[in-house]
Amino acid sequence: MTRRWYLCCSRHHLDTVPEDSDGIVVPVTEHGVATLLPRYPETYEVEDIVDVAKDRGLSVQALMDFTCAGCEHLSPDGYPSLRSTLDYLASDLEVDGVVVADPYLVEVLATEYDLTVVVSHTAAVDTPEKAWHFERLGADVITVDPALNSNEEEVSAIRERVSVELRTAVGAITFRDPVAFFERNLFSHATAEGIEVDPYRNNPYEPMRERVVVWEVREELFDEVFILASGEPP
Ligand SMILES: [Zn+2]
Repeated sequence: MTRRWYLCCSRHHLDTVPEDSDGIVVPVTEHGVATLLPRYPETYEVEDIVDVAKDRGLSVQALMDFTCAGCEHLSPDGYPSLRSTLDYLASDLEVDGVVVADPYLVEVLATEYDLTVVVSHTAAVDTPEKAWHFERLGADVITVDPALNSNEEEVSAIRERVSVELRTAVGAITFRDPVAFFERNLFSHATAEGIEVDPYRNNPYEPMRERVVVWEVREELFDEVFILASGEPP
């Protein structure tokens, strides 16, 4: 059975998560989220969502998949701040896993925390070699770039190379979109700094996207499905 994870951006959103789902993924913006979403929950909302989800018996993963940490790894305040957020996720929120893109975070989480480490679609894993790299760092689950969602040949090639679980993201933009790389960096910084990016107002990349979102998927190729948005493409 393919396990099903649903993105959850608000308390109201949680009420719409189907009963057959295995868990939810909640954005934690403290250091940035690169996944493009219509809204990002405040800290108090995250705590509420996690509490209620756990009461309902759902597994919970925190989405912290920034593609740029603005040099936080190196700055005297940045590194302790990153670590204290990971401690907060593990010990206070008591999430079951963390979804990240940064290879350094994959390694730190895998070696120093008892959490499921999931590589986000924003890490753009689209070859067996990239998947192997993240597996070697300690990933438990790897989300394949959405461009491959229906590509049996390429997903099978990745599966042959690694033994981790493979996840697909539905409703996400793909790395093959020419502006995805830049847009993810923009959102990483904007979410960390609390700047709202509005497609109609201040997102410079919005009109430049080509393959905006990948909705199609061959679920049988994957162990897990992460549904970022449901229904018809907007
Ligand atoms: Zn940056």
